[in-house]
Amino acid sequence: MLHSKHNKKKCVIIGASHAGVNCAFALRKEGWQGEIILYDSDPELPYHRPPLSKTYLTSAPSDVLSPLKSADSYVREDIQLNLGLTVTAINAKEQNITLSNNTSQSYDTLVIATGARPIIPKIPGLADAKNVFQLRTAADVAGIRNALGSKPNKNVVVIGGGYIGLEIAASLKKIGASVTVLERENRILERVTAPEISDFFQTLHQKNGVDIFTHKNVTVVEKENNTVKVVCDDGSTFTADIIIVGVGIQVNTELAKQANIEIENGIKVDASARTSTKNIYALGDNTYHYNAHYKKYVRLESVQNAVDQAKVAAASICEKEVAYDTIPWFWSDQYDVKLQIVGLSNGYDNIVIRIEDKEQPCFSIWYFNGSVLLSVDAINNAKAYVMGTKFIKTNQLINKEKLADSSIEFKPANFITQ
Ligand SMILES: Cc1cc2nc3c(=O)[nH]c(=O)nc-3n(C[C@H](O)[C@H](O)[C@H](O)COP(=O)(O)OP(=O)(O)OC[C@H]3O[C@@H](n4cnc5c(N)ncnc54)[C@H](O)[C@@H]3O)c2cc1C
Repeated sequence: MLHSKHNKKKCVIIGASHAGVNCAFALRKEGWQGEIILYDSDPELPYHRPPLSKTYLTSAPSDVLSPLKSADSYVREDIQLNLGLTVTAINAKEQNITLSNNTSQSYDTLVIATGARPIIPKIPGLADAKNVFQLRTAADVAGIRNALGSKPNKNVVVIGGGYIGLEIAASLKKIGASVTVLERENRILERVTAPEISDFFQTLHQKNGVDIFTHKNVTVVEKENNTVKVVCDDGSTFTADIIIVGVGIQVNTELAKQANIEIENGIKVDASARTSTKNIYALGDNTYHYNAHYKKYVRLESVQNAVDQAKVAAASICEKEVAYDTIPWFWSDQYDVKLQIVGLSNGYDNIVIRIEDKEQPCFSIWYFNGSVLLSVDAINNAKAYVMGTKFIKTNQLINKEKLADSSIEFKPANFITQ
């Protein structure tokens, strides 16, 4: 259906990754007839980020990135893709943006999908050390591969035992590196999982020959001939050819802040991804948004959120209001283990562990607040992930004793209490 009043309008999108690209294509699907103009600083055809720390890190240098959409499809959908160009300012009053090539671009609707960048901690010596990497972009992977060279049997120290740090460790071990993970907290994945999941992954890595040390706060990085010495506050030291920093991200909110758009733990948006400023939307990792199921504002770092928010915003821009209402989900691949997560476990006060098969890792952890199911972590257990999603969505009350009993067949009817 044609929306003729949109015919001459311009929708400009800053950031052409999961959020921005999906928004552009969703706009066409919703019937936007005007111009769609995407900008991204990254020169690569927009690509999937999750494989960067998984398959792409272990593949041959000649292997290509996994594109979000083919180059042809931008042409087909009449979406202008401007790569290698950075937006330097938003002029909300004049409804235009300034670009790094000193030109400007006017808009009727602006979408900020600028995502996030890795945090580089202020550790003395880190910035000047050779072969220090972060992992957010294809260029970061190219740098790591280059430093590994043709014989990747190098000593790699990964600072940070979160999902990305652990995926990098598993991938580099697979291609022959000697890998050590240094985690500052009591356990890896401390902020995001129950201790049982942390223990499981710690053991998995150790079995695969990756050393993981917790309570390791890196304080200094020192040059040592051709390598570097990573020094922790307890006096322990680790020699590294390559350091990879995976201690979390900071959201790219500078443009929005400078344009006086409301910021609160990210760009604050409503259920349709609208910011506090007229005709400006924000999507993806950089947003602080309301989750209707959990009845609270959250900031999420996931493909699911970027894609779902993009669809909601596109509908709203085309004047078809829909409210964002999804249960978050996420995944992580390490060695031959697939972790699938559904829901948000923050605020849990009890868990149920269900082990399907004691010989092979196949289990799930169900996080509850009282009797309310909040989230599920499923290890090699797609069935638990699917069932958990359904139960969370429908606020299903569950018989926990039965759920924990693996002799009871794993089907929803066996656990429903009402
Ligand atoms: C190594 C890795 C592994 C991951 N694994 C998973 C996973 O398994 N599952 C999962 O759900 N999520 C995973 N994620 C997270 C997921 O990739 C992000 O949630 C997702 O990329 C967010 O999309 P986004 O579009 O909001 O932001 P981003 O992907 O960060 O994209 C923002 C884009 O904006 C551009 N940009 C920023 N500022 C400007 C500017 N001023 N001008 C022009 N362009 C600009 C950037 O260049 C970038 O391309 C992973 C992330 C990484 C890095």
